[in-house]
Amino acid sequence: MSVTMNSKSTAPVPLHREARAFEERFPFMRPTLPDLKDVIEEYQSAYQSGLLTNSGIVGRLETAVAERLSVKHCVAVSSCTSGLMMVLRGLGLSGEVIVPSFTFFATGHAILWNGLTPVFANSELDTWNVSPSDIERKITEKTSAILAVHLYGNPCDIPALEGLAQRNGLKLIFDAAHAFGGAYRGMPIGSFGDAEVFSLSPTKLLVAGEGGLVTTGDAKLAAAVRAMRNYGDIGAYNPEWLGVNARMTEFNAALALRGLSLVEAKLRRRNSIAQTYTEILSSLPGVRFQKKHPQDTTTHKDYSIHITPELLGQTRDELANALLNQNIETKKYFYPPLHQQSLYTKFYDPARNDLSQTEFLADGILSLPIYESLPDETIVTVAETLKRIVDSKHDGHAPSTRPTPRRVPAKASRRAAAGR
Ligand SMILES: *Cc1c(COP(=O)(O)O)cnc(C)c1O
Repeated sequence: MSVTMNSKSTAPVPLHREARAFEERFPFMRPTLPDLKDVIEEYQSAYQSGLLTNSGIVGRLETAVAERLSVKHCVAVSSCTSGLMMVLRGLGLSGEVIVPSFTFFATGHAILWNGLTPVFANSELDTWNVSPSDIERKITEKTSAILAVHLYGNPCDIPALEGLAQRNGLKLIFDAAHAFGGAYRGMPIGSFGDAEVFSLSPTKLLVAGEGGLVTTGDAKLAAAVRAMRNYGDIGAYNPEWLGVNARMTEFNAALALRGLSLVEAKLRRRNSIAQTYTEILSSLPGVRFQKKHPQDTTTHKDYSIHITPELLGQTRDELANALLNQNIETKKYFYPPLHQQSLYTKFYDPARNDLSQTEFLADGILSLPIYESLPDETIVTVAETLKRIVDSKHDGHAPSTRPTPRRVPAKASRRAAAGR
């Protein structure tokens, strides 16, 4: 209409006409893969022999990983989820398994699939990993294991967890889905507890397409998982274990085997991206970062910041929406926490288990894009845009001088005041 056309020339430029930080959305995640020629070269032997699953290439992948991580046994499986399910079964657990609520739901699913009861522990406000002292409070005579998670690839407090497991006669399993390439004080993740389980799905650092790796020093457990991934059968046609089909195919193994040599560079690149993000965002009020020990290697499978809305001047979701308006996609890894998901609420009694610290973490978590092929320029623009969004809010109405975070539990806020 002509009226509209005329008024347009004098009216201020509508908001949606302003240039966005990015003209189009870009992927939140994209795996860096080995050269397809190399993968096919590796795969050729399987294709020509007709042995397409759980054969020579899978064996070579297992050997290469066991050597790299200095572990006795590595068993390749179809996924981290199936690996965790089989490890819990192979260890003969019963009763309760203590697990952080602040994790991906596959961690909890492995417990439920085994008919075990998850008992949720809080995560620490600095490392965002499961709190050993909270685990200790939750040990009962029914507890049979601790299932910890190296969140985003940041190693857990392993000695504290090992000590707890030893003193209480518990099994210790790590969901190391995020942590391939990580190290605790120089020692590779994969070598701790009764077993560790990696994921090789496309969002992780070592990619098989789909796949998982169980690493353990326990020969019996390794044999059990080897049997279980093949219906429980070890060749006698009389399964000892109630297994599943959780084999890794030869193609998936070829992809992972050729991807192994990329892991070091991926680690470096992701840590550099994380550093850039943190440097730019650290001046913002109410933003905290995952604390990593200087001698540890974290993989940065993800990079998340934590927002305290009362300090930042907006909620996590408001910030996420404002970023999306600028064509920057974010995720909330991991929100809601397990105990607030319908499969898990029945295992959570708020009168007996205070998970307010977990809720504080999950309510404020915001994951930013991080992968190797993202140019520095994009990372800087993402971080600067985030800063600009926060600053523009502050210009309008400055936050009160000493706001008290509403949702921080008393103990948490004292630690928060001491620094991030
Ligand atoms: C990705 C992920 C899993 C599941 O891995 P799959 O290989 O897809 O089964 C398990 N736990 C955590 C923490 C994850 O992020």
